[in-house]
Amino acid sequence: MSKKVVCLLLAAILLLSACGKPEAPNEPEAASPVEITEPELPPEPVFTDIEIIAAGDDLLHNTVSKDCKTDDGFDYRHLYTHIKDTVQRADIAFINQEVMLTGEVNGYPNMSAPAEVADALIDTGFNVINLATNHSLDRGEAGLAKSVENVKARPFDAVLGAFATEEESNELILVEKKGIVFGFLSYTYGLNGYSLKKGNEWKVALIDRQKITEDMKKIRPVCDYLIVSMHWGNEYQHTPTSSEKEYAQLLCDLGADLIIGTHPHVLQPLETLASGDGTHTTVCMYSLGNFISHQQRIATMLGGMLDVKLVFDEDKKLVSSEAGVIPTVTHYNASSAGFAIYPVSEYTAELAEKHGIRKYDKPMTLDYLNELADKVLGDAVVK
Ligand SMILES: [Zn+2]
Repeated sequence: MSKKVVCLLLAAILLLSACGKPEAPNEPEAASPVEITEPELPPEPVFTDIEIIAAGDDLLHNTVSKDCKTDDGFDYRHLYTHIKDTVQRADIAFINQEVMLTGEVNGYPNMSAPAEVADALIDTGFNVINLATNHSLDRGEAGLAKSVENVKARPFDAVLGAFATEEESNELILVEKKGIVFGFLSYTYGLNGYSLKKGNEWKVALIDRQKITEDMKKIRPVCDYLIVSMHWGNEYQHTPTSSEKEYAQLLCDLGADLIIGTHPHVLQPLETLASGDGTHTTVCMYSLGNFISHQQRIATMLGGMLDVKLVFDEDKKLVSSEAGVIPTVTHYNASSAGFAIYPVSEYTAELAEKHGIRKYDKPMTLDYLNELADKVLGDAVVK
């Protein structure tokens, strides 16, 4: 007779003799020796949670830099104080660095900003930075090279869209977080009328159907989740253009998991696209709007942080994806100072009252921000 059966018999005898009422075995399991016979359970499945936060145009006009001037340089960290916790909780924290960080302050239209911006972005928690924008060549190829150098000198996990060498431009950009490999691609629609010298086209990645198709085929098989930054669309327009839609569908058909759209300076919708063959879906944020700027239209004060929560199984297969947008507001005062980004949920009527936008456009109100966010994003707004 096996040990297990002996134990069970013993337990039965003990129970019967103890209570004497076999018809009422209400609490038979407590402290019973049966416990040692527990069958082996299958191992618990292991899941990996990942959070991605993406911010839009870091559009640092010279007036913003003036506001960040210190006695011995620049300090931009206070711009990002109110959104720092959100950025820091992310595994992947992306920002579109609209203005090149050449080291010098230059105003519109050929803008640039100091390298200390990159220090502030690192301090805030951003680890992926995009440099492919229509302003990439504002200070020429030399300014672009200096910007790439300044950003690469800081501990970002990935620098997207602009390159120091041709060899680098051909390397796949892969970032591993918690064992999951993230692939990145980035493109801009143009360079504000400037062009790269012949032979230097590799320096900034431009939107091009053939190039995108080739790049996607190379990177898709070697990553678990593929993120594509697209600098595209029409400025100040809340709806995506037919070109945005066409490229978004191409990226979806080629297997992109997430598209981060920037450039229009205002929010555009968040959508989930399905591939033509029905086998794949892509989360597409058409435009995150401005993260910070000194623009003068009230709609450009409202931006968003895309918040994507993913779950991967132990085979690194995506089993769950939830995406939303945290509305943000650029604040500045009537003296064009006091610049800072706030989540709209933490912005106050008192601050709105003091917003300097009233010099150029209508006065800021919380209702304006919330209503515009709801109108463009609908259910995607993270309340
Ligand atoms: Zn742009």
